[in-house]
Amino acid sequence: MTPDAHDLPDHPDFLWRNADPKKSYDVVIVGGGGHGLATAYYLAKNHGITNIAVLEKGWLAGGNMARNTTIIRSNYLWDESSGIYESSLKLWETLEQDLDYPILFSQRGVLNLAHNLQDVRDSKRRVYANQLNGIDAEWLEPDEVAKVCPIVNTSPDVRYPVHGATYQPRAGIAKHDYVAWGFARRCDAYGIDLIQNCEVTGIDVSGGRVTGVRTTRGRIAAGKVALAAAGHTSVLAQMVGLRLPLQSHPLQALVSELLEPVHPTVVMSNAVHVYVSQAHKGELVMGAGIDSYNGYGQRGAFHIIERQMAAALELFPVFARAHMLRTWGGIVDTTPDASPIVGLTPVEDLYLNCGWGTGGFKATPGVGWAYAHTIATGEPHDTNAPFTLDRFTTGALVDEHGAAAVAH
Ligand SMILES: Cc1cc2nc3c(=O)[nH]c(=O)nc-3n(C[C@H](O)[C@H](O)[C@H](O)COP(=O)(O)OP(=O)(O)OC[C@H]3O[C@@H](n4cnc5c(N)ncnc54)[C@H](O)[C@@H]3O)c2cc1C
Repeated sequence: MTPDAHDLPDHPDFLWRNADPKKSYDVVIVGGGGHGLATAYYLAKNHGITNIAVLEKGWLAGGNMARNTTIIRSNYLWDESSGIYESSLKLWETLEQDLDYPILFSQRGVLNLAHNLQDVRDSKRRVYANQLNGIDAEWLEPDEVAKVCPIVNTSPDVRYPVHGATYQPRAGIAKHDYVAWGFARRCDAYGIDLIQNCEVTGIDVSGGRVTGVRTTRGRIAAGKVALAAAGHTSVLAQMVGLRLPLQSHPLQALVSELLEPVHPTVVMSNAVHVYVSQAHKGELVMGAGIDSYNGYGQRGAFHIIERQMAAALELFPVFARAHMLRTWGGIVDTTPDASPIVGLTPVEDLYLNCGWGTGGFKATPGVGWAYAHTIATGEPHDTNAPFTLDRFTTGALVDEHGAAAVAH
């Protein structure tokens, strides 16, 4: 029986207004995911710019922000990456207080397993590089891995023997949708318009300078336009004739039924292609590698799930009787060097934040901060200065394939 309206409790307050577009803004951000929201927030908080619209073609944070496996870490190889990912991790450590909103940030540590001699060498190299950059990173032998995560199969005679692991104790997970809602609520308090169901279909440029966007809800004039559209960035850039070195791939993940706490940390294996943590609620959250084809349908193929489950069971025999509850996919934008592109474009006042591939959730506050600086001042922040678009013509690449944790 359907209850009458008066039988239902009052609807709780919304965390943000459902704004309609105004005719013009100082800054229009395309994409209402974590990066778009964090950028809007830091533009207001750090630079006093509040005449901002965040345009989202679907629902707020319904893209990769709602679909990721929430792993946060900063143990990348190169100094440039340490700069941006560690600045982000530092912001995560105080974000809950800053947003005054629960985000369930849990620094339960991340293990990156090594399964062969080359893995061991690469992993140790990364640990030493991390330590030189002041990042907490340790090399653990198999018996130490078993102490951190007793359910990992560390016996020597398995298909993927664990020869050791890198360990970052300050790494962990957060509740991704709470993070988005926390940013959205603060943006709204600054008067920023968060506009859903508003797809950008064109970008207007006059005299080499961006002047506004065309959308499914009409034209909106803009002093500056900042792209934060993840997998769809190359589609948007194409609107101004900019061809980006991006490939968009499906990336999928899945969760098990709810289980009692069995998994105390986060375990990733690049060689075997699975990464696992246990959500606060109890689901095992498992990710895999990207689906190898390009596409924009937010779903993945079954053979990836099969491989992912086979790998998970080799590493964690204890999961054998767990039931899979649901799977989903996002669209990730990968670059040739597995590092992001954040900064200026050849079009004046048009800015770019993309190429995070499989790993941009962890960068949410850090890149929001740096991107806001870039948009407000017209100059890159120290942390995003190395991540230019023109590195693909100068050759100054930041090759993070080894530390990206998922081959792509
Ligand atoms: C399965 C999976 C697992 C992942 N696991 C991790 C992880 O463990 N750790 C980690 O750090 N990262 C992870 N990632 C990557 C991470 O989710 C992304 O890098 C990050 O969310 C990117 O943030 P974003 O705000 O740029 O993207 P999104 O949240 O995708 O936001 C972009 C938004 O732009 C909107 N948009 C696109 N085109 C238009 C348009 N024309 N007009 C208006 N709006 C538009 C989209 O609808 C979307 O909401 C994972 C991703 C997936 C898919």
